[in-house]
Amino acid sequence: MSDQSEFSIIQQYFEQLTSQREDVELGIGDDCALLRCPEDHVTAVSIDTLVENIHFFADVDPVTLGHKSLAVSLSDLAAMGATPAWFTLALTLPKVDEKWLKGFSTGLADIAKQHNIQLVGGDTTRGPLTISIQAHGHVKAHKAIKRSGAQAGDLIYVTGTLGDAGAALQLRLNQWHDDNLSRQDQQYLQQRLEMPTPRVEQGQLLSGIASAAIDISDGLLADLGHITRQSGVGARLDLAKLPISKALGKVNRTMAESLALESGDDYELCFTVPPHYFSELGARLADQCTQIGVITEQAGLSYIDENHGFLDLNISKAGYDHFK
Ligand code: ADP
Ligand code: MG
Repeated sequence: MSDQSEFSIIQQYFEQLTSQREDVELGIGDDCALLRCPEDHVTAVSIDTLVENIHFFADVDPVTLGHKSLAVSLSDLAAMGATPAWFTLALTLPKVDEKWLKGFSTGLADIAKQHNIQLVGGDTTRGPLTISIQAHGHVKAHKAIKRSGAQAGDLIYVTGTLGDAGAALQLRLNQWHDDNLSRQDQQYLQQRLEMPTPRVEQGQLLSGIASAAIDISDGLLADLGHITRQSGVGARLDLAKLPISKALGKVNRTMAESLALESGDDYELCFTVPPHYFSELGARLADQCTQIGVITEQAGLSYIDENHGFLDLNISKAGYDHFK
């Protein structure tokens, strides 16, 4: 991108996007940002890339795209129990589209302000529309929630409801249709796909009591599978307990369950809690999470189904893999 247009894009849309944090010694404008990490904390860092026609539809509202671009990175910070602090943005644009830039930066600014995370730098280039955001957060030393800490007997929970984003995607791709879904239901599901809510507060509240956590980007089975593999344990799920939204609850239960288990993009947290923290969890998260199963000694995932009894799940098929 020519120097002048790159410079003016940054100045016009991104320089004043967020408010100034005290721990930013130098933000946008130099070769590097200069940042101060609080004492006795470590920095949690995560990067995510969204590519047009792979992660989002070309006609998606740029405001929601700005929101989602940061939401997915905030969700990673949430899964570790970290507090958001700073982010950088690498933007590849096919052309300078003022309307798009205005919408995108507005959506990005709104969610950044909500979470007090500051844009401190980035890169702007020309090419197929691609958005990379690297988010940085703080977490007290030894308090980060890893995927590897689950133990047999721990209770498995998820925040929010599952399967909504997957349902919206199926509807959008015309691969599925259900007459029971009103226009309003469909709009709700679409909102869940395009404007996910990163569970940042919940993640922070889980630090100290959760033994493992992950955010659900690829689907419950795939992501819980990361916890069980990295922890060297297994899991048994109770399908009847899967939290399903009011909207998705209108379709038949088998379809809703399969979306809840296998579809991605929900950005809810899946976490495990030792049973002795059961009441502490209730005090901290109250009705913001649902117990869906228990960690078992034997590797692999299985589930209980009221109608079909006890079954093994094939987790190798679950989740989206870009290189398959
Ligand atoms: P350099 O040539 O050193 O890579 P650039 O000219 O790419 O620097 O960027 C100038 C400044 O603007 C840097 O501080 C950089 O971090 C920032 N910047 C570039 N693109 C973006 C963007 N999309 N969002 C936020 N900051 C950006
Ligand atoms: Mg550069």
